[in-house]
Amino acid sequence: MSNIQFHCPHCRQTIEAGLDMLGQLMDCPACGQTVEVQKSPVKLPSLPPPPPRLPPKLKMPMPPAPPKMASKKKEYKVLTQRDPAFGGEFSPEKLEAVLNSFAAQGWLVVSVATISLPAGPGCARDELIVIMGRNQ
Ligand SMILES: [Zn+2]
Repeated sequence: MSNIQFHCPHCRQTIEAGLDMLGQLMDCPACGQTVEVQKSPVKLPSLPPPPPRLPPKLKMPMPPAPPKMASKKKEYKVLTQRDPAFGGEFSPEKLEAVLNSFAAQGWLVVSVATISLPAGPGCARDELIVIMGRNQ
């Protein structure tokens, strides 16, 4: 024997009853109220459909801020052994003094290299060059 299920109209309790009880009155086992055994279960009042969800606002990625242009420009200076700062006589001590004097003005040595310069007919000598830079 199959049973039918329906809901108590008073307490919404699911009630199971035999098919032979169809159309008869019975007491709800949950709330005690008299209910009629119905074949088609009482439909629970459907809840109003939830409001349609608005699609989440797409967060527009903020464009990366343009890199700040360096307000200060680099300035470079090339120092050679022939620079008048050496007073015609080049020596490591003189170079150090000159570099220090330039450093006091913000110059920093960027690179040091030696180049071969023709010093006379059939003669070449290496000459030291110092590249310095600073922010303007
Ligand atoms: Zn009930």
